[in-house]
Amino acid sequence: MPELPEVEVSRLGVSQHLNGEVITDIVIRTPKLRWDIPKADLAKLVGQKITAISRRAKYLIIETVIGHIIIHLGMSGSLRVIDSTTELKKHDHVDVAVGNKVLRLNDPRRFGAVLYANESGEHKVFEKLGPEPLTDAFSAQHLIAKCSKRKAAIKLVIMDNPVVVGVGNIYANEALFLTGIHPLTPANQVSTAKLIALTQTIKDVLAAAIKQGGTTLKDFSQTDGKPGYFAQSLFVYGREGEACLRCKTILKAVKIGQRASTYCKKCQPIDM
Ligand SMILES: [Zn+2]
Repeated sequence: MPELPEVEVSRLGVSQHLNGEVITDIVIRTPKLRWDIPKADLAKLVGQKITAISRRAKYLIIETVIGHIIIHLGMSGSLRVIDSTTELKKHDHVDVAVGNKVLRLNDPRRFGAVLYANESGEHKVFEKLGPEPLTDAFSAQHLIAKCSKRKAAIKLVIMDNPVVVGVGNIYANEALFLTGIHPLTPANQVSTAKLIALTQTIKDVLAAAIKQGGTTLKDFSQTDGKPGYFAQSLFVYGREGEACLRCKTILKAVKIGQRASTYCKKCQPIDM
């Protein structure tokens, strides 16, 4: 599943090619992905100039002065900017054409979404979203306040969109390891000092992943468009049964909210 850094890097790549261009066509080959695609509303955007490509949580937003296209990559979606004559592949569902180039959405599992918002940019998918992790709105004070009322595992709380958006499984695992917090620790029992450190670490791991992904941007239009996961050194994610890179203890995994959580029992003791 693309996580926030992959979506942000896709945004940067798409921006390079589409920002300032005029939408010449929107082709919808599949009526429904996760939700129905609002074909009539989207058709209104043909002839409009793209004024910005923005992002909210894991939604990419192609903005014009009269309305916006909202795209979510779901579990398996990917975007390519290619020549409009490029032959279609299986699961190529939607094209946004700008002259002889197209932004093409491929999504084999169809959990992605293509939606429309009017010029206000408001949409119900944005209603319950918490602050963006890389902005000042996501502060230690905010996380401390949210955790003080929650007995749920800290890992679930930092992955909860109303608390903060865009902290997916990979980066939650990594941030908890780097701050020495056991993923099952009840949120209201994590010390204030550790929550301060966790807030900064979440920002750092996401920013580092975006920076790393950004280096591959030059070839955005040439690649297969799969955001994938940037080749980066992960400390714990996906490393169950391997040795901790800090203390050599064998890493363990536990399922929390259906997602695998890998941790080092020595580096991440439960604070209780
Ligand atoms: Zn360790």
